[in-house]
Amino acid sequence: MRAVVFEDYKQFPSLTEVPKPEPGPGEVLLRVAGAGACHSDISVYRVFEEGQPGAQKPPFVLGHENAGWVEALGPGVSERVEVGAAYLVYGPIGCWHCRQCAQGVETYCENAASLPYLAVGLGRDGGMAEYMTVPARHLVPLGDADPVAAAPLADAGLTPYHAIKEALPYLAGGGRYALAIGLGGLGLIGVQILRALTGATVIATDVKEDARARAEAEGAITVGAGEDQVEKIRALTGGHGVDAAFDFVGAAPTVSAAAASMAQGGRCTIVGIAGGTHEFSFFTNPYETHMTNTYWGSVAELWEVVEMYKAGQIRPDVERFAMDDALEAYRKLEAGEVNGRAVVTPNPS
Ligand code: NAD
Ligand code: ZN
Repeated sequence: MRAVVFEDYKQFPSLTEVPKPEPGPGEVLLRVAGAGACHSDISVYRVFEEGQPGAQKPPFVLGHENAGWVEALGPGVSERVEVGAAYLVYGPIGCWHCRQCAQGVETYCENAASLPYLAVGLGRDGGMAEYMTVPARHLVPLGDADPVAAAPLADAGLTPYHAIKEALPYLAGGGRYALAIGLGGLGLIGVQILRALTGATVIATDVKEDARARAEAEGAITVGAGEDQVEKIRALTGGHGVDAAFDFVGAAPTVSAAAASMAQGGRCTIVGIAGGTHEFSFFTNPYETHMTNTYWGSVAELWEVVEMYKAGQIRPDVERFAMDDALEAYRKLEAGEVNGRAVVTPNPS
């Protein structure tokens, strides 16, 4: 079968033939409907070096944001998993035997350092292929929802959902302000989630004008990325600052802009993995600001994200690519030419 393979560090992936996988005990074989191209994949094949935090050993099939139809059940899988039905895949895979995994928070597995991979498509073969194998307990049923449009929920939906859910106490009540920086795959869904779950005024920013236009269509007030950006954001809050900021880029200028836009006692969440740092001392930040970072989300939260999708509260903006054009999806993502989320469709329905 054909697959997009990350062959080696600092090397653009290739579209190549690999053997069709077989589901092991407790796993299913999934015929992939959609696999989203996440910006993190660019770090995987462009930035990370062996041994660096986040680096996963090549070669493996990319794609950690997947949905598809169950084709076959491996040994021991419950018949409650329906062959032929559409499911979304929870990507992270922990040890299943620690306190975090016991709660479905496999992203924060206490034994992650000693595991062979982080997730499907991150160390283990992912969904940029005609077929993939998935632990059956990582399947979230989609019912009659379109699995291609739903694929981004697995990461571009779940990651902002978790970050925002943790920040909800900061946005409760009237007169609150939220800030979203970076309006690509994650950020645009982040704006939708903020609008659905909070009454906060949502301020959003991106260097790209059409990304800002998309956020405006979702009900955000936008600001450009110029020198006076923080001043403009603070002015929109009447000088108060934002109660919760979400940096979906994580570069030095965006982390600084997020921190400088905070209200006293607000929560600033770094989601983007660009690795920008920020000075934090008694004198550099508004009093009682909380700086934090979040990674992906739990399987229970993914069920909640699917409910929001079915209710029309999350509407991923998807650009579809046939398998032949899978590498073009990554080329466009790197060039900043994707609007919303690029989804590769290895099996037309
Ligand atoms: P994307 O490429 O779809 O979108 C990024 C957006 O940020 C683009 O619209 C781009 O124009 C904008 N941008 C870039 N530099 C900017 C700047 N200086 N100021 C304002 N806007 C800027 O990326 P994505 O797939 O949405 O991923 C976003 C980030 O989140 C990446 O760093 C990715 O690796 C990371 N990520 C983190 C997690 C996590 O669990 N923490 C999960 C998935 C992705
Ligand atoms: Zn664990």
